[in-house]
Amino acid sequence: MTAISEKIHVVQGDITRVTVDAIVNAANNGLLGGGGVDGAIHRAGGSEILEECKKIREKQGGCPTGEAVITTAGRLNAKYVIHTVGPVWQGGKHQEAQLLRNCYQNVLQLADQYHVETIAFPNISTGVYHFPKPLAADISAEEVSSYLNEHKQSKINKVLFVCFDEENYRLLLEKTN
Ligand code: ADP
Repeated sequence: MTAISEKIHVVQGDITRVTVDAIVNAANNGLLGGGGVDGAIHRAGGSEILEECKKIREKQGGCPTGEAVITTAGRLNAKYVIHTVGPVWQGGKHQEAQLLRNCYQNVLQLADQYHVETIAFPNISTGVYHFPKPLAADISAEEVSSYLNEHKQSKINKVLFVCFDEENYRLLLEKTN
């Protein structure tokens, strides 16, 4: 069996350019697209993604913070986009850390339900949601490792952290080595 640390990889770049089974989107509660990585994913993936997001909205009224939903990946080099809504940083006393942990756990659970083997995460909440990058890096590395440790039957064999900026890239490299 492959050691968990060998399944986790950190790269710097644009998540819309990677080839994996599932690309994770840092979405917002409304699921109608936005700026940052959300805008980049919808632009690169095309309107099919938004159409499915709209259907999910009609059914369940969007996506609560910390939870995740899955759609097609449209034109992206992936089968699925898994949209999760990270917490907005409000000083740290509003369960932000737990909500960010929930994002990683819920995304990975959904990925397993869809038999995903390879998955790419952006640094959820570290853009306009202003979550402190060092704490977000700790949480993301911890949650992915603990999920893989606790789910030995998981088919996920590659988790890519795709860091857009240098600071997140360095932090994630430190946390995963
Ligand atoms: P949030 O609202 O969750 O903070 P943002 O999209 O503003 O979402 O930022 C989340 C992270 O995604 C930030 O670290 C940002 O630098 C990064 N990011 C923005 N565009 C891309 C992209 N094309 N690929 C990967 N990461 C991206």
